[in-house]
Order: sequence, then structure tokens, then C-alpha cells
Amino acid sequence: MSESLTDKYKVLKHTFGFPGFREMQEEAVDAILSRRDLAMLLPTGGGKSLCYQLPTLLMDGITIVVSPLIALMHDQVLALHELGIEAAMISSAQSPQEQQQTFTKAKNGILKFLYIAPERLANGGFLSWLAMLDINYFVIDEAHCISEWGHEFRDDYRRLGELRCAFPHTPIAAFTATATPKVREDILSQLGLRDPLILRAPVLRKNITISVRERDSGWRTELMGILNKHEGESGIIYAFSRKETEEIAEFLSKKALKCSAYHAGMSPEQRQSVHQAFLNDETQIIVATVAFGMGIDKGDIRFVIHTSLPKTIENYYQEIGRAGRDGIDSEAVLFYSGSDFYNKKRLIDEGSDPQYREMILAKLRSAMDYATAEECRHRLIASYFSDSVEHCGDRCDNCKDSLSPKTDITVPAQKFLSCLYKTGERFGATYISEVLCGEEKEKILSNAHEKLSVFGIGKDLSKSIWSTVAKRLIELGAIEPDEYKALKLTASGAEILKGKQSVHIRQERLSPKKASVKTKTRDLHAPIHFEDFKALRAAIAKEHRIPAYIVFGDKTLYELAEQLPNTKEEMLGISGIGEVKFERYGEAFLKLSRELSGK
Ligand code: ADP
Repeated sequence: MSESLTDKYKVLKHTFGFPGFREMQEEAVDAILSRRDLAMLLPTGGGKSLCYQLPTLLMDGITIVVSPLIALMHDQVLALHELGIEAAMISSAQSPQEQQQTFTKAKNGILKFLYIAPERLANGGFLSWLAMLDINYFVIDEAHCISEWGHEFRDDYRRLGELRCAFPHTPIAAFTATATPKVREDILSQLGLRDPLILRAPVLRKNITISVRERDSGWRTELMGILNKHEGESGIIYAFSRKETEEIAEFLSKKALKCSAYHAGMSPEQRQSVHQAFLNDETQIIVATVAFGMGIDKGDIRFVIHTSLPKTIENYYQEIGRAGRDGIDSEAVLFYSGSDFYNKKRLIDEGSDPQYREMILAKLRSAMDYATAEECRHRLIASYFSDSVEHCGDRCDNCKDSLSPKTDITVPAQKFLSCLYKTGERFGATYISEVLCGEEKEKILSNAHEKLSVFGIGKDLSKSIWSTVAKRLIELGAIEPDEYKALKLTASGAEILKGKQSVHIRQERLSPKKASVKTKTRDLHAPIHFEDFKALRAAIAKEHRIPAYIVFGDKTLYELAEQLPNTKEEMLGISGIGEVKFERYGEAFLKLSRELSGK
């Protein structure tokens, strides 16, 4: 045991180039080395790959990794090759000869890792073939797919239960970043894990600053402000529809930003080329539907922006989790509007399987509650996954603004609700505001609404404030639009009307918004030579035809630029540079480092 302990540190430093383990990594590695089943929940960027890649290098045999996406497997295999480790994948995109070659290498003990897609297991012959290998353990990546991912994934992942029957003595290690308690139970029971070590890291992603904004007519100006702040950095913008991805991509291209749309309507070749250009830093921004992302292993994504309300908090957490996997400060911004909830709800009502409808609607409601909440966002996400976070300090808009004053708008809210009720719940917010403001418009007169007691009782406030009051009431679920956009009072609205519930709003929402186009003011002060190292990395990546972040992550470049090492030993002291990587690229970086330090 003590020898394997020293070995594990040696491999960590020598092969992966890291000076120490991160939180929970060592426990995971030890569990696998002692052949115990493992279920690990670690947020994106926490370093799951290392947990299952390192032990394999200390064990005989081959590790089988089940992973849901070809792009993800491809990147992992490439990254392992860069570390000098034999790994391969079997995919339906390969020719029978290629598959045969991989089989032979696996059988001859040459491979340390074999990545496979879950649908492989549907083929009974494949299990018998696996039985011919000396498998040390199975890894199930993105294990939450077994429970709640889209239908196409779920069925294939469900078959993973067969692994335990076919290989009763081979340990299984399951990994995921996102799982509610219910999903966690599913993972354990469906995979048939036996007395697994359960490791669960805190949900909090400290390096992501979260903010949520209302999407109003000036939102594109706000978007430009955010993008200006992140000039030259990689990011993803998630949009609602294919059409919207194209519109936004066109808008940004006109502003001279290097960006591309990405959606399921594009051909696989087009998508592959957009993906590749993003990985190689040739495209700075991807404007995508949710079809983009699960295979994104790029560590230096600095911002993730949503242009509308996500369907679930699970989706949202996973999508924003793609920012800052390298641990460097990053940002997530969500733009939402009250209508997002009702548009999505309508789609759910019309399209989803009745068996799941209630559950899907409840998840959507949680997403809306999250968007409109005025508490710590990190805490809200954590509590959704049954974790707790004190509060994030200043890592979300609500904590930053916690001192911003709130106003009690119960009385205006009651006036609005009363007017809505008295006009028969047949109109939208604009009409109600006009009645409240006492406008003698033709439509109002033809409905004889100027005779109502509520006519003109809201003259003290502007129509734009009435529109904000209406938004707040929609956010709180006190009123909701029907399919004709007529607002209806809900049970919670009735409580407000009866004075049993009060309504508050952040004061600043009642004053007109000043549009701001921020110039680049980065939170993070990159060392002065960072860009020089980045340029060298880009050139090497291009020459070797691999994504830049696979050469070295941003974190490694930061350390290089900060420390400007002069010797091989100093280079090896930098996080992310192991012996093999040094052999491959070390000299070029060392040369640059010496030039920059003037030695
Ligand atoms: P996950 O799969 O959990 O999202 P990854 O395995 O992609 O995370 O790791 C995220 C980043 O953290 C990668 O750039 C990886 O090289 C880095 N990393 C992993 N373990 C360590 C460690 N012990 N020390 C420093 N960096 C690490």
C-alpha cells in the first residue's frame, strides 16, 4: 500500500504534471485502487477524469469508459495520447477494419483505456467480446444519463445495469456533475453498485460569477457590454431556437466578432467544423441551442450567456458549468423574461408525454423561481441539489446587490390585481395600465371601463412602472397569461389582493435603466506575457492539429507567464507540465520564457 501511495503521487506529478490532488480526487483514486465501487459527484471542472485515469496507470489491465458522446470520447483519447498513454475508442463512425484493430490492441494488452458508447452494450456479442479482456474496472461517465437525460440517452444507459450481471467481480466507478437526490438513488440502484464509496463535492462553483437580468428591448446593448468585457476570450451564448442562434450570430458578426451559430439543423460536417474552430480558438463565440455542449471539454471558456429561461436548473447548472473549467474566473449571465415561462409551458402542455408533464412543469417553475429570486444564486442552485452554501460573498448579482434597497409595492400590486379582476381577466398588462392611468382610449370607452372604480386610480405612476409591477406579479406567479395573452389571477394573486401577502421589488427596477456599453475591464489580471505564451500555444496547436487547450491549459500559461521559468526543473514545477508534455513542447516554451525574462 505504501508503495502504491508513493506511486500515485509520482504519477500525478510525472504524467499529469500536477503538484497535488484537488478536493476528493485522492479518495476517489484510493477507492478505485482498492477495487471498491464508487459514485462521485463533482462539479464540472472539478477534475473527474484524473480520478479514473490515474489509478489505471497503477493497475494491470484495461479500463472501459462508457461515455455518451463521440466528441467527448475523442477529446479524452486525444488528451491521453498527449500524456503518452495508450487509449482508443470504438464508435459506429469507424470502419470495421479500424474497430478490428482496436479490438486486437485491447486484447493484446496494449491499450490502457477503451472508450465506448452505451449503445454498444445493446449488442450481445460485444459483452462476450469484453469478457475476453482483462478489465480492471468500468467507468460510467455522465452517469446521470441513466435517470433523467433525454429519452435517446436514457434507454441506452439503462442497459448499463447488465454490466454488473455480466461482470459481477469488476468494480464500477460512476461519475456525474449534476444529480438531484432522486437521480443519485437511480444511479446507485440501476448500476447495481455494491457498498459504493459515495463522494459528493459541494455544488458551489466559486470561480463563476452569476447574474440574471430581465430581457427588455435594450438587452442586445447589454449583451455587447458583456462581450466587450470579454474581448478575445471564448464563450458560449445559448439561444432558444435555431432561428435565434442564426440571428444573434449574424448580429455579432456585423460587430466584427468571430462567432458561429450551432444547432441541430446543421449537417454533422458543419457542426464538426464549427466545434473544431471553437476548440482551436479560431472562433471566439458559439451561439448555440442546447444541442451544443455535452462534448465540450474546452477549459478556457470565460463566459456562458443564456438569452432565455432554461428548461431546468439541471440544464442551467450544467451549461454554466462549461465556463471556467480551468478554475480561472468566469462569468454566467442569464437574460429572461416572464413570457419565457409561459412560452415554454405552452410547449410542454402541447408536446410532452403526459406521464412526465407534471415533473417537467415543476422543473420549469423552479427555473423561473430561480431567475426571479432575490437571494444568493449559488445557494439557490446548491439547495436545488440538496446541498448547502452559506452565501457566495460577491459571486452573484443578488449578493452584490444585497444592500440595494427594496420597495414594498403591495398597494400598487393590489390596484393592478383589482383592475385586472374588475375588467374580467380578459386583457393584457398594457390595457390594465391604461385603465389605471385613466386614459380615455376608444377601446376602454367601448368597454365602458371608464365607469369602473379603478379607472384612473393609478395616475400617480407611469405606464412603464405599471408594466414593471405586472412583470413582478408574473414572476411571483400572482397572475399568468393564457394562450391569448389575457392575464388571469391565480390563487397567490388572490392572497395579495386580500392583503394576506405582500409584494417587494428591488428599488432600482423602478427607475429607468441606463444602457451601458462597458469597455474591457477584466476582473482577472492576466500576467503581461500571457498573450505571448498564448500565441506560441496557438502556433503549436496548429502545427500538431490539436486543440490549443490540449497543448496546455490557460492555468499553465498563467503560471508560465508569471514565473518565466529558465530551466527544465523550473518548468516541471508548473501545474500541468509533466515529463511527457515537457518532452513534446517544453523546449519551445522554455525558449520563449528565457527570451521574455531576458536571460
Ligand atoms: P471534469 O471532467 O470534472 O469537468 P476535468 O477532468 O476536465 O473536469 O478537469 C478540469 C481541469 O482541471 C482540467 O484542465 C484538468 O487538467 C485540471 N485538473 C484536474 N485535476 C487537477 C489537479 N489535481 N491539479 C491541477 N489541475 C487539475
